[in-house]
Amino acid sequence: MKTFDVAIAGGGLIGSSIALDLARAGLRVGLFDKQEPGLEASWASAGILSPAPESPAMIGMVPLGKASMALYPEFVQMVEEICGQSVGYRAKGTLEVVTSRHVREELSTIIALHHGLGLRAEPLSAADARELEPSLREDVEAAVFRPAEACVDNRLLTRAIIESARKSGVEVFANHGVDAIWQEGDICKGLVAGSEKISAKHTVIAAGCFSAQIHGAEPYAPVRPAKGQMISLRCPEARIERVLWGDEIYLVPRNDGRVLAGATVEYAGFDKTLTAGGQRKLLNAAIDLVPAFEKAQLEEAWAGLRPDSPDHLPILGPADMQGLVIATGHFRSGVLLTPVTAKLIREWITLGNVSENWERFSPMRFEAARKQTHASAN
Ligand SMILES: Cc1cc2nc3c(=O)[nH]c(=O)nc-3n(C[C@H](O)[C@H](O)[C@H](O)COP(=O)(O)OP(=O)(O)OC[C@H]3O[C@@H](n4cnc5c(N)ncnc54)[C@H](O)[C@@H]3O)c2cc1C
Repeated sequence: MKTFDVAIAGGGLIGSSIALDLARAGLRVGLFDKQEPGLEASWASAGILSPAPESPAMIGMVPLGKASMALYPEFVQMVEEICGQSVGYRAKGTLEVVTSRHVREELSTIIALHHGLGLRAEPLSAADARELEPSLREDVEAAVFRPAEACVDNRLLTRAIIESARKSGVEVFANHGVDAIWQEGDICKGLVAGSEKISAKHTVIAAGCFSAQIHGAEPYAPVRPAKGQMISLRCPEARIERVLWGDEIYLVPRNDGRVLAGATVEYAGFDKTLTAGGQRKLLNAAIDLVPAFEKAQLEEAWAGLRPDSPDHLPILGPADMQGLVIATGHFRSGVLLTPVTAKLIREWITLGNVSENWERFSPMRFEAARKQTHASAN
């Protein structure tokens, strides 16, 4: 029987970064993935690192996002040193374009919201915005510059973390899908994969939007997939230095000259089909924000599945079954939240306490709601 200190189900950014941190802390770690690790949401993502909330529902995540953002430079340096490859980290800020006719009110509301959350944000005139990003459409009215934000090439980062985990002693098992947690009474004793039992003192469920398919994990990780379609463009006529946000789209530059445009948010089960409507929306919005894209080469189109939780917040921490820890539900912010997630799960497993307040992300919040509904139904 395979025996580990920690067995992890899922080798995306979340599972593999947890594995890396725990191996560096001296633990024997087994990382199990149903395919080659790193080919789901972590591959499909845009890699924007922005703790600013995209909707009111995400405000509760801001402190965690800020904590992760602060860890990023050191995290990137550590991974690049271990694996010897760049991960395309670009710390150049992000620019949110304002096109409304009510510019003054809109700008001051956005800036006040950011400052209220302790986030850096500066109003820019149209001229200043176009000086920073000359490829923007000419009739931009104003912009908000968030100098502390960044982006990273998530495909390079995911590969580099998996490679670093291997180099740090993690045993990676590809094509090794996990079917269930191995439960005996109130104790989680590891994982079940087919007819094989994998023994571990600590078990981490980090299978992204597939986590609820692992038998026994569903009450703690009731995630569902939120499909996102993306495209990548190449256009020598357009020079984009930093992440740009429009009303309908974001654009993300890569060091190799590509610009990613995304993304749709669709609840369509586990289907990753590219649709004409989704692609048209991305292309129209990209050309609208940067007119030179009319001539861009369309290099690639793809879709991925974000792990979304019922309240859109991540699911992090211990379950009420000894030895079981959940790390999923990162929805639209899993790349941003990778360093802090790895740190918190490592702290919990090695020290039994954590350095950030993670109560509101507890996997027990769904179980409590479920029991309440059940009790009132009876
Ligand atoms: C289009 C798109 C754009 C995005 N943009 C951003 C962004 O700009 N910034 C940001 O921060 N976040 C972004 N995200 C979100 C981010 O990509 C995810 O939150 C993050 O990648 C989730 O990582 P994960 O490791 O939990 O899941 P995944 O990367 O999905 O990894 C899960 C892993 O578990 C494995 N697995 C599944 N079932 C099993 C099983 N039964 N047994 C074993 N292994 C299993 C899978 O094969 C996979 O390797 C985006 C996502 C998408 C789809």
